[in-house]
Amino acid sequence: MKKKIRLVNKLLIEKYGIPLRSKVPPDPVDLLIATILSQNTNDKNSYKAFQNLKNNYKDWNEIEKLTRSQIEKKIKIAGLGKQKSNSIKQFLSSLKKEKHKISLEYLRKEDDRKILEELTSYIGIGVKTASCVLLFSLRRNVCPVDTHVHRTTNRIGIVKTNTPDKSFDIINKNLPEGVAHSFHTNLIKLGREICRPANPNCSICPLLNICEYEKKNLNGGIKYKENDFLLLDSIK
Ligand code: SF4
Repeated sequence: MKKKIRLVNKLLIEKYGIPLRSKVPPDPVDLLIATILSQNTNDKNSYKAFQNLKNNYKDWNEIEKLTRSQIEKKIKIAGLGKQKSNSIKQFLSSLKKEKHKISLEYLRKEDDRKILEELTSYIGIGVKTASCVLLFSLRRNVCPVDTHVHRTTNRIGIVKTNTPDKSFDIINKNLPEGVAHSFHTNLIKLGREICRPANPNCSICPLLNICEYEKKNLNGGIKYKENDFLLLDSIK
């Protein structure tokens, strides 16, 4: 599997290039809350919601003192306001109560597994959100699996699973060193532009020659129906 991941990564870099990374990694608390806000909405709206929250207060300590419904009003534009405000409020309050300050700096000395365990113990924080903190803020070689990464890696034949969290486990047990950021970022691009949920545009895909989905279709094998992947799109 490592070999296939390396090959997919190489072909995607040939197509899309090496994705840019910010010079300074985002603060882990900022990144975690931005990831909660990004669920089931577009980048523009989740960014606006984040700014509405962060720019109106001095720091996360001030935001922690807001009620859940005050947070909901600030992040309305990102949708799922009740659910997202609840996760944010619970996370900030638990962190303050347990660690006496709103910071995730204490995680830096821990290994990947411990950090995942710790972050997913907070209500409303799933494996995807926790793994985004690992990849983007802590610069670990961990590949978060969202709906696009889950769909594309199943189609390509890297995994054969029915949930993103199962895909996450298998991919990350077999992830070659140093590929997580480009592999994750370019698969999302592929999933948005070419390997879309319905009607993937295989004829222009850089993975056409190595993709299991394409082989199955050419051989008259399993064909996914549109709803298979619309359903998966609702799992974040
Ligand atoms: S060949 Fe088709 S199914 Fe396979 S990754 Fe490319 S677009 Fe997706």
